[in-house]
Amino acid sequence: MNKECKCEKCGSKMIPIQKEGATGMVCPNCGFGFVTSYIDPMYEDQNEYEIYLSKGNKITNKNYFLIQSITGKNIQEIKQLFESSPYLLYKGHAAEVRELMNKLDESGVKYVIAPDFIY
Ligand SMILES: [Zn+2]
Repeated sequence: MNKECKCEKCGSKMIPIQKEGATGMVCPNCGFGFVTSYIDPMYEDQNEYEIYLSKGNKITNKNYFLIQSITGKNIQEIKQLFESSPYLLYKGHAAEVRELMNKLDESGVKYVIAPDFIY
């Protein structure tokens, strides 16, 4: 998008705006603006990504509940997963993987993603 976009109504320099699912330009002087719908390339990515548990994770209350909700395994089995890592935890599209990454980060779980995750 042209950075030097001028307002059609008053000629002021417009500023870019970005909202969820939309991008556009707005005039700070008179409020004239337009938005175009914008799809995050992450949602169009058809590749499948794999999340592997890294070696060296230690079980905690927080990560146990998270891993349990993903795998449906019990605490003994999860301990074994952590010990036998890398373990393929999840396979899915970019948006799902991103969501899970946020949860793993929150719970302090170490993981790797293949192929390289660029979002
Ligand atoms: Zn204007």
